[in-house]
Amino acid sequence: MLTVDVGERTADETVIDEVLEATVGGRATATALAHERIPFDADPFGAENRAYLSTGPLQQSQMSFTGRMNMTGLSPLTDGLVSTNAGGYLSRNFVATGYSVLEIAGESEELLAVHVTDDGVEFEEVPELEGATVPETSDYVENQQGLGPEHCIAIGPAGENRVRFASVMTFDSRAFGRGGLGAVLGSKNVKCVTFDGNVEPPLEIPNPPESEIHREAATSDDRMRTQGTTGGTEFINDNFSLPTRYFREYEFEGAADIGGNAVEEKKYKKGACSACAYACKLPTRDEETGVETEGPEFETVYAFGSQQGVDDIVDVMQANELCDTLGMDTISAGVTVAAYLDSVDEFGNAELAQELTEKIARREGIGDTLAEGVARCHEELGVENYTVKGMEFAAHDGRVLHGQGLSYAVANRGADHMYASMLSLEYAGQLDPDGTLGKAETLVDRENHNAFRDTGIVCAFGDDYVTEERLETLFDANYEELALVGARTVELERHFNNQRGFDRDDDGVPYDLPDIEDAIVEYYDARGWSDDGTVSDARLEPVAGAALSDD
Ligand code: SF4
Repeated sequence: MLTVDVGERTADETVIDEVLEATVGGRATATALAHERIPFDADPFGAENRAYLSTGPLQQSQMSFTGRMNMTGLSPLTDGLVSTNAGGYLSRNFVATGYSVLEIAGESEELLAVHVTDDGVEFEEVPELEGATVPETSDYVENQQGLGPEHCIAIGPAGENRVRFASVMTFDSRAFGRGGLGAVLGSKNVKCVTFDGNVEPPLEIPNPPESEIHREAATSDDRMRTQGTTGGTEFINDNFSLPTRYFREYEFEGAADIGGNAVEEKKYKKGACSACAYACKLPTRDEETGVETEGPEFETVYAFGSQQGVDDIVDVMQANELCDTLGMDTISAGVTVAAYLDSVDEFGNAELAQELTEKIARREGIGDTLAEGVARCHEELGVENYTVKGMEFAAHDGRVLHGQGLSYAVANRGADHMYASMLSLEYAGQLDPDGTLGKAETLVDRENHNAFRDTGIVCAFGDDYVTEERLETLFDANYEELALVGARTVELERHFNNQRGFDRDDDGVPYDLPDIEDAIVEYYDARGWSDDGTVSDARLEPVAGAALSDD
């Protein structure tokens, strides 16, 4: 692990072999380190908060579905620990520096660019980048360092201005989106970090299955490969799971105009993450207006489309581009804008929505209020507080998919769909969407699975290819052992949050769900946690603390 203290301008290496042996990499490793090294009473915007970028063993391969990285820290949006995951091309350049984890600590007085190589760390004061957008920052890095955006993480004005849902961007268009870690970098005065090196990956990945997975990814005829996540928009709408006009409705009459076909029409070339033959990304362009972006993905179609009553795909593309450029999570930004449109009865006003998006990033006028997120501004707006633990909802309506609703209620990260993805089972008919009781064991399995997936690290869209059986071969372990790594991660997140005061009162959704109280208790039982939603100290196994040693 490389620790960069941006206040002291020091760089130190710590041997974390034993931590990695116990936690594998990615989210599990970063969570164990964060649990050990971020004080339980830390201010998310304080020098004592730390941000962790981490890879897993699979980032040392050239296998499809592995062009991903994890980022973990204390969230200014939820006030708890969050991990978030981004694609792009960064992971290989990160591995080439020779590190598994970068820990960013302290707080700089000057705006900084930090350059990490296999030959040391350089701190560069960059006052000229104050207020710069993400692409402007990338251009600067390209000019000064000769490194493209695939070598870089950067924040935009939203991160600098501590917008609570600011993202950390890489490759200009890929976001460590949820939970506001962009604002954490902003509070540390870190504008960007670059990674460059020539270290050969020390691990060999078993093959098969590496080449089998690659071949299957390259030859798959999944609709995801042409329409990305937007391919499911109309199906989700038909299932009444596309929250519309700030949760007033469950389906959107304009879904077809902003769904998969509409996006595919604007797609002008293939897009992928590093080494991924599945290539599900969506570079899009509208010839008439010149609007160009990567995406929108389905969640952006929801947040800046149905939730705002906007039915023109070019408007959604434009909003997507604004969020990427300014450095904001499209889900939280879009839903917060939708809350405002509700308060002024302006649903469908895409021009106003885009104006608000800019104002949020720069904290201008009403944007300063909205930059706090729905949980903190809903009273001023006079609208319902549709959040869990301060995080705005993803689509996939928990009022219809009750298992997904239960997941939103108890997830340590808040109202995020990727934490357990119960939605996939409920859409597929493998789980009856009605009712919350009897689903706790499945939910625990899904949370553990996803936590390990974020640890390995495997893309969420690779589940059909990187199967449990193949994970066993890749990691030379039983699936149960891998799931246990995931379970410990969820438990450490919970324990950390408990120390900050989170308990039973923080688990729940802002709408009625059948038997939700009993289902939450079932979930605690399945996890072995107390009825008040807490994890006792005695349950924790020492991982990071016992094993850390200075190099
Ligand atoms: S499946 Fe799509 S998002 Fe996942 S790594 Fe491949 S290109 Fe990236």
